[in-house]
Formats: sequence, C-alpha cells, structure tokens
Amino acid sequence: MTGSRYDILFEPVPIGPVTAPNRFYQVPHCTGMGYRRPNTLAAMRAVKAEGGWGVVCSEYCSIEAASDDGHYPHARLWDEEDAAAMARIAEAIHAQGALAGVELWHGGALIANRGSRLPTLGAVSRPAPLDPIQSKAMDAEDIRALRRRHRAAALRAREAGYDIVYVYANHGYLLTQFLSARLNDRADAYGGVLENRARLVRELLSETREAVGDRCAVACRFSLAPEEGGFLEAAESRDLFALLADLPDLWDLTIDGYDVEMGSSRFVKEAAQEAVVAHAKSVTDKPVVGVGRFTSPDTMLAQVRRGVLDLIGAARPSIADPFLPSKIAEGRIDEIRECIGCNICYAHDSLGVPIRCTQNPTMGEEWRRGWHPERIAPRHAEARVLVVGAGPAGLEAARALGQRGYAVTLAEAGSELGGRVARESRLPGLAEWARVRDWRSGRLAVMSEVESFLDSRLGPDEVLELGAAHVLIATGARWLTDGIGRWLDRPFEGWQRDGVVSPDELIDGRLPEGPVLIYDDDNYYLGPALALLLRAAGRAVTLVTPEGRAADWTRLTQELSFTNAALLEAGVEIVTNHGLAAFDGAEARIACVFSGRERGVEAVSLVPVTRRRPEDGLYRALAERPEALERAGIESLARIGDCEAPATIAAAVYAGHKAARELGEAAPTCRRERAVLA
Ligand code: ADP
Ligand code: SF4
Repeated sequence: MTGSRYDILFEPVPIGPVTAPNRFYQVPHCTGMGYRRPNTLAAMRAVKAEGGWGVVCSEYCSIEAASDDGHYPHARLWDEEDAAAMARIAEAIHAQGALAGVELWHGGALIANRGSRLPTLGAVSRPAPLDPIQSKAMDAEDIRALRRRHRAAALRAREAGYDIVYVYANHGYLLTQFLSARLNDRADAYGGVLENRARLVRELLSETREAVGDRCAVACRFSLAPEEGGFLEAAESRDLFALLADLPDLWDLTIDGYDVEMGSSRFVKEAAQEAVVAHAKSVTDKPVVGVGRFTSPDTMLAQVRRGVLDLIGAARPSIADPFLPSKIAEGRIDEIRECIGCNICYAHDSLGVPIRCTQNPTMGEEWRRGWHPERIAPRHAEARVLVVGAGPAGLEAARALGQRGYAVTLAEAGSELGGRVARESRLPGLAEWARVRDWRSGRLAVMSEVESFLDSRLGPDEVLELGAAHVLIATGARWLTDGIGRWLDRPFEGWQRDGVVSPDELIDGRLPEGPVLIYDDDNYYLGPALALLLRAAGRAVTLVTPEGRAADWTRLTQELSFTNAALLEAGVEIVTNHGLAAFDGAEARIACVFSGRERGVEAVSLVPVTRRRPEDGLYRALAERPEALERAGIESLARIGDCEAPATIAAAVYAGHKAARELGEAAPTCRRERAVLA
C-alpha cells in the first residue's frame, strides 16, 4: 500500500542477515499447544502471518530434557523429531510471507523437570518455586554441556527453517539466575562481578551467532527494570544491557516487575514501557522490539516516528486480533478487535490446554474446528434468526450470523447492549471489559443484516409471533444468594434475611449498609471488584473465602498479587480458609475449613458471590411447546452462553460464535490431535 499515513509501519526492517517485511512483530507467547499439539500450533501461527504480522515467533522452546516444564505444553527442540514438528510451524508461517522466530529456552531452577525427572540446573542450588526439590548448582562441565546443547538446538532451529533464533535471558529462567546478583553467589568465573554474571549470556549469544548467524538473526529477550521489583535490580539491568548491547542482532525488551504482557493490563503502568525502550535505544543502534499494549495504530505510529520503536512487539494484541496489521494496512481501523487485558489466554496455557481469547473466539480453533478469525461460511439458505439477549453470547451470535448473511433480529430487555459486560465494566478496574460489547456493537452498527431492539423483553408468545426460522436464547444468568457453591452444599442459616444482598444489586449500583461481609466462593475478579466498590463508598468490608488466598483463580491470570495488593491497600479485611455458616443481620458466623471452628464477624450486610442461576425460563417455556414451535415455523431452538451454563465472558462469546457457525451445518468439523504410535 502507498500513500497511507501508516506506511511507515509497513516498511521492511533489516535484522542481521534477514529482513522483516514490516514492523509488526509477534513476540514469543505461550500457547498451551507446544510439543503436544503441533498441528493446532501451526494453524494458529499461520493465521497470524496471514493477518500481516511480519515476524511470528514460537513460545518458549526447550533445548533439552533438563528444561522440561511439566504439564505446560511448551515448544521443544530436543531432537530431530521435535525439529520436524517445529519445521511444520515455520513452513506454515513462511507460506504466508512472514519470518519465523524461535525462543530457545532453559528454565533452570524455576521449573521442576516433572516429566524428564532429571535434576534441575541452576546458577546455585535453590528450591523450585512449586515443588519440594532443589536445583543442582551447575559445575564447569554442566555449563559446557549447556552451551553445547544450546548450540545444537540453534542448529536444529536453523535446519527447521527458523529465521530468528533467541537467547532467552529474562523472566527468571536459567539465564536470569546467572545475571542476577541477588540470585547468583557463585565464586567462579560465572559469579561475582557483572562481567562474570553476564558471561554465560555473552557466550550463548556469540556461539549462537557463530552456529547459525550466517542465515539467522540472533535475538535476545531481556528485561529492563524501570524501578525495583523485577528479577534484576533496575541499575543492574541497565549495566548488563550496556555490556551486552551490541552482541545480538535484535533486542526484544520486556519490562520486569510489572510486565505489561504478564500482568493484566488493568494493573499496567504504561509510561514505563516507553521509558525502557527509550533507554535501550540510547545505548544501542540494534533494532529494538518493544512489548506493550501498542494496539492503537496512532500510538504505534507516533512511537515509530519518534524513533522510540523499530518493531512493534505484541503478544496479546495478536491473539485478540490476528488481522490487526492487515486492518491498519487496509484502513479498516474501526474493525480492530482490541485486547481487554483479562489474561484468559495465559490462564489456559497455565492449565495445560490451548489458549483461548475473550475477544477472539477463533483463537485455538484454527485447526481443530477450521475457524478463521475473518472468514466464515455463508448461510446455506435465506432465513431469519431471532437472538434473545444482547450479552456477550447474544451479541457475538448476532454478529457472526449477520456475517454469514442471515437476517437477524436481536432483542434485548435492557436499555443498552452488552449484558453482563456492560454492567460489570462499571466496577472498579473493569472498564476495559466494555470492549467486548463495543467491538460487537460497532460491527452490528454497520451491518444491514442485523436489526437490534432495546427495551424489548420477549416472552414465549412474542418469540412465536416474530416469524423467525431459528431462535437462539441468550438470556444470561443472575447471582443467587443462598451461598451454595464449592464449599456449601446447602443454604447457610439466615440466607433469606434482610441484609443478604445479591452481587447483581451492587453491580446495578444499590450499595448495602456497612459493615459488609463478602463471602467469595467464586474466587475470580467479581468478589474483589465488589469489595473495592464498597470501600470506595466508605463501607467497612471483610472478604471471606474458603480458599487459602483471596481471588485464588487469578493466580492463573497473573493478577493474584495485584488484586490482593489492591484489596489490602483499600483497607479490605481478608479472611481465608473460612466458609460461611450463618448470618443473623448483625453478625456472620464463619467456620474454618480445616477445623470447623466457628467465629463471628460483625456484618449488617452479606454478599454471597458463589453461584448463578441460568435465566432459562424463556427457553424452557418454548422447548415445552414443540407443536407451537412447528406452527410458528421455528425449525431450531437453542440456548447459549450463561443461560445454558454460567461461565466466563470468554465462554459466552465462544458459545455465541459456535452457535452462529454451526447453524444449518449438518456435521461441524472437530478434529483431535493424537499421539502417534512409535
Ligand atoms: P451472556 O453472558 O450469556 O451473554 P448476559 O447476562 O451477559 O449473558 O446477557 C443476557 C442478556 O439477556 C441481558 O442483557 C438481559 O437483559 C437479556 N435478557 C434476559 N431475558 C430477556 C428476555 N426475555 N428478552 C430479551 N432480553 C432478555
Ligand atoms: Fe487479550 Fe483477554 Fe484475549 Fe488474552 S484473552 S488476548 S488478555 S482479550
């Protein structure tokens, strides 16, 4: 393209012996696919290359069996078989005209080698973070062996067709353990002064270059800490960077301490990312990839123009919208689907399954179901579809059905689109959730196929009268107040008293009197968000959870420490390992989950965040009347999203998308990756 104000973003960028076709650089990000699901992985990476990312990198790619991250399916280059799988991925990326990068990785003492059962290796002998084992302090022979294996993996990567080969020196893994003065107290040539601590990284950078540098660019992933709190001290990280500055062909910089790509964007200090890259650019003239939330094309443009960035690094924006570069190139800026920073993607890698995305329901389904983020099969026959409820499930269903060419009527009882995302996005820290609605309502606004009606609560008779051939019920769910959840199987004593308040009432702005006890057996973001809302309104709040930590599930979204810090800072009293027993309007009785020992907590209001009731009355009323459906010409009736089974926003979007894809399809594709018999 020529003549666009964004042209500069599409200039080629030389990186050592290779040239990136443009400045859009998908930095390494984990996928939950890795060595276990190479076909799934190849198809997913290929879609990003097709969407215009000039460089598409692998996730962390283990170089040897002593770097085996257990149940997280990372990439692997241990041997020729692994190389063959990695080659398939590189081929798929190349077929779309992008460069392929591979992030060679050694976990060191941060992992536990749960699969290979080899001792873990470390600069020193330290306990693994999650397992009752300690690493072996690497001796001189271990270091020589590591260098040989890193070199062998680099050669395999080149054989497999990769264009950019990483030395991965951050995120606390083996090389950070050597770099950090805090973690490395060795007395040999690899410990002590800065030069010694940098020796291993320096050796790996030059040996990788020597092995593959004729054809591949050598990249280094490193963290510059803008302030204290990262794996490396701030001054130390700058000194180390200065020492290594000219060794790689490319610097891929993240921000330690509050890594923008690791922590949810709700907690990011944005100015930090620019400061880090600006510092790097003042030290080296090698190209720099800066990782951040560079989703706004104008921000990207400004940063490239000011010389702050050479390559626009992104992981999550490339997951939420694999076609972000193409949309910018084609001037379709308003079609960009922005990441909401929820880290549902990352959480599922941590759970050992393919990543998924709240905003992009096709993520992870490119191979298994053959879904493409931009293309969808046209309708088989002309028909009207009625979608009832405009939460994330109904909105996505209506949008995708419209894209297929169906005539869609979307009826919403409330006075705004968005359902739960519209409501929850008004809670503290959740404003970005609204993008789930905004992207979809923006698409609907320019689609002639879809008519939306607000303030339109439909009953069964109205549904029957509307003349639709297909009906999707997406009427959501409401929070219950009986306390039944993971811990309680029966309602707590006093659950029907005044003072017991549903989370929905708070979300809708009706705040109860304090002191308030939030009984959080959901353990995700809602309990803490309600606690912060109440604190902001001056109520005394105690958050009680049967789990060992508040918001325990957010350990998977990397928000746990941010969330707990926010609660403590706001003055929320946190009580862990306690379930709810009773409430009398002045006091709640809570019981220790281990000993059963009860105690009282003063509370005039109690908010149980435990489970939701599907709002499926409309669906059931219709499903009970098959003859009436037939008379009305309704060929199919289905319920989707929270009204079928209350779950995450990501699950509701996915359900809406799946229902739209599968409408009228006799046998939707769903393949499985299988282990091959030797
Ligand atoms: P999901 O997460 O499954 O999309 P939500 O709770 O976010 O569910 O959204 C459900 C939406 O359905 C809400 O906006 C609600 O107002 C709407 N709704 C519920 N019942 C009806 C009904 N009978 N007619 C129209 N809209 C309804
Ligand atoms: Fe962004 Fe959430 Fe999608 Fe991850 S899951 S890419 S954080 S919207």
